[in-house]
Amino acid sequence: FIKTTGQRGFGIFRETMEEELVGRRDLEGLVRSALQKNLFSLQFQPIMSLPRGRICGFEALLRLTSEAGTPVSPELFIPVAEELGLLPETGEWVLNKACETAAGWPDGISAAVNLSPSQFATGSLPSQVQAALTASGLAPERLELEITEGILLKDTDAILQQLTELKALGVTIVMDDFGTGYSSLSYLWRFPFDKLKIDRSFMEAYSHSGETIQQILKAIVALGRALKMQVTIEGIETVFHARAVKDLAIDNLQGYLFGKPMADVEIPNAMLKDFVKTMNLPSDAAGPA
Ligand code: C2E
Ligand code: MG
Ligand code: MG
Ligand code: MG
Repeated sequence: FIKTTGQRGFGIFRETMEEELVGRRDLEGLVRSALQKNLFSLQFQPIMSLPRGRICGFEALLRLTSEAGTPVSPELFIPVAEELGLLPETGEWVLNKACETAAGWPDGISAAVNLSPSQFATGSLPSQVQAALTASGLAPERLELEITEGILLKDTDAILQQLTELKALGVTIVMDDFGTGYSSLSYLWRFPFDKLKIDRSFMEAYSHSGETIQQILKAIVALGRALKMQVTIEGIETVFHARAVKDLAIDNLQGYLFGKPMADVEIPNAMLKDFVKTMNLPSDAAGPA
């Protein structure tokens, strides 16, 4: 019921994939059976740390592949899983799988896991995270949890309580897709974020609005510094993008230039050891070694 496109499940193919899904029912059925049928997997995308230009972690990204082998974009299936009430369970699977995988990487390399609103609904997220850390043996300093503003919109006290508990475990809390929602600034002082991840839409606009984007990024970095938060920017696709941000004193970069999401087994060994050499990162993008 889902035609093979040969394309990977990235967001840019969303329209095509939507057209090719005969019905939402089919997608629902697929999502419902996915855990049991082992159709979920994780891919990992490298995150660079500056100024040395080394890899410091990977973001875990959930993948769903139909039984016929067709990838379905997370931008399609995650909202469906959320609506069907399946995300608490799926999210727990992601947490466990990501921690287990990261425990096999060298010490300095962390994993970032995306969380969705319903994972906060039961109140058991902190104990789930603790359990994933214990089972895998991963040090809490090597786990980052990414949340978007959508999570913070309601039930503020319950969310704040859980974020505080999570921080007490020693994990890092990241505000993902920063700059895309509304009221971002009020969330910054009400919630204990350690990191801001600037949405990739800023880099997408860079080619036509470079000057303005530069100024906005400068201001976000200054804000992050003032609030003692680290700053990451995603969507670095080209050397042009990397050059554009190299003087902004951003802590972490992520994007296709450094690596696309890949299965754990596909991560080159050298990428875990000496990322700069492996990726031929242009030296002016990496900054001084
Ligand atoms: P996100 O957390 O903001 O993840 C970054 C997305 O940007 C990923 O899309 C990644 O493949 C894509 N990306 C990375 N670098 C580049 C680049 O240079 N250019 C472009 N154009 N795109 C880039 P993906 O994997 O399709 O995931 C989409 C969204 O789905 C994620 O956005 C996240 O919100 C959600 N998601 C993915 N995995 C999970 C998960 O395990 N749990 C939850 N709750 N949400 C997830
Ligand atoms: Mg993310
Ligand atoms: Mg993001
Ligand atoms: Mg996103």
